[in-house]
Amino acid sequence: MARVYNFSAGPAVLPEEVLKEAAEEMLDYKGTGMSVMEMSHRSKAFQSILDEAEQDIRDLMGIPSNYKVLFLQGGASQQFAMIPMNFMKNGVADYIITGQWAKKAWQEAQKYGKANAVASSADKTFSYIPDCSDLPIDDNADYVYICENNTIYGTKFHTLPNTKGKTLIADVSSCFLSEPVDVEKYGVIYGGVQKNVGPAGVVIAIIREDLIPEKPYIENTPTMLQYKTQADAGSLYNTPPCYGIYICGKVFKWIKKMGGLEAMKVHNEKKAKILYDFLDSSKLFKGTVNPADRSLMNVPFVTGNEELDAKFVKEAKEAGFENLKGHRTVGGMRASIYNAMPIEGVEKLVAFMGEFEKANS
Ligand SMILES: *Cc1c(COP(=O)(O)O)cnc(C)c1O
Repeated sequence: MARVYNFSAGPAVLPEEVLKEAAEEMLDYKGTGMSVMEMSHRSKAFQSILDEAEQDIRDLMGIPSNYKVLFLQGGASQQFAMIPMNFMKNGVADYIITGQWAKKAWQEAQKYGKANAVASSADKTFSYIPDCSDLPIDDNADYVYICENNTIYGTKFHTLPNTKGKTLIADVSSCFLSEPVDVEKYGVIYGGVQKNVGPAGVVIAIIREDLIPEKPYIENTPTMLQYKTQADAGSLYNTPPCYGIYICGKVFKWIKKMGGLEAMKVHNEKKAKILYDFLDSSKLFKGTVNPADRSLMNVPFVTGNEELDAKFVKEAKEAGFENLKGHRTVGGMRASIYNAMPIEGVEKLVAFMGEFEKANS
C-alpha cells in the first residue's frame, strides 16, 4: 500500500487512524453484525453515533447550549439559499465579498431579498481581506455574511468584521476545527465537512436557537430547507448522511485525542510557517496573498511562468505530492494543508520545491 501526500482542497486528506478504524469496523460495527452504511438511522446504534458526534463537536468548539448543532445535506452551496430563506426577516442582508464562495452566496441571496455587497477584494483578485472595521452596515440588515477562510484564494479573516451589532453568519468550510473559535461571536457557523472534517455529503450548521424562525420568511420554502424542521427533528427529519456523520464523529475523537483545537492551531501554524517561510525566501516560488491575511489551510503560490507551474505540478505528482494544481479559475499552485496533513508532508514538499528551484534556475 502506498499513500500519497494529498494536498487537495476538498474532498481532502483524512487522518489515517480514522480510515483504519473505519476499515476495521466495516463489516461489523461494534457487534451489530452490520456496517454503519447498512444500519437504520432510527436504530439505537446510529442514535449513539449521532449523539456522540454532537457532544464531541460541542466539547471541541465550546458550543453553548443555546446553539443547535445540525447535520445536514446539500453541501455548503445549499446553505447559500437556506440562510436568506430562513434569516431574512427584514429582507436585507450585508455580504462581504472575499472570493468565489462569498460571491456565490451573495448572488443566491439576491433571489430572496436585498443583498448588499458592503465590502469586496475583487479589485485585486481576492488576494487580501478588506478593512471591515467600519462598514456601511444597513440599519435593517438581518445579518452580515462572511466566508471566513477563502479556500480558492488562500486568505482568512484574522479579525472578524465589526457588524455594528448585527448577527454574524460565517461559512467556515475550509477552516472548520482548525483552531479555537468563540462561537458566541456568531449567530450561525456552518461548513461543508469535506475540506477539514469528513467525507463529502455532510454540512454542519451551528445556529443560535433564537434565530431559527417558526416559519421561514420566504413563502413556500420547502420543508427540508427550514432549519426548524431539522432542529425539531434532531437532524433526523429524513434519512441523514449516516456514514458521513459516523466518519465526522471519528475525526472529532481524533482531534480530541490530539489535544483539541488549541493543539490543532499549534500544529497548523507550524505547518503553514514551514511553507510560507520557504515561499518568502524562494527566488522561484512566491505566495500570492497579502501576508497579513494568509490562511493556515490553503496556500496558493506561483512561479510567474505558466509552463514552469505545469512542469512543477507534473513532477510533484510523480514524486507523490498530489493535487497541487491551483483552482481552475486562478491557475498556479495551491497546497491545502488541513488538520490531517502531517508536518512531514509539508517538510517533504518544501524539500522537493527546493530541489525543483535548483534544477530550474
Ligand atoms: C468548498 C466550499 C464550498 C462549496 O461546498 P459544497 O459542499 O461543494 O457546496 C463553499 N464554501 C467554501 C468556503 C468552500 O471551501
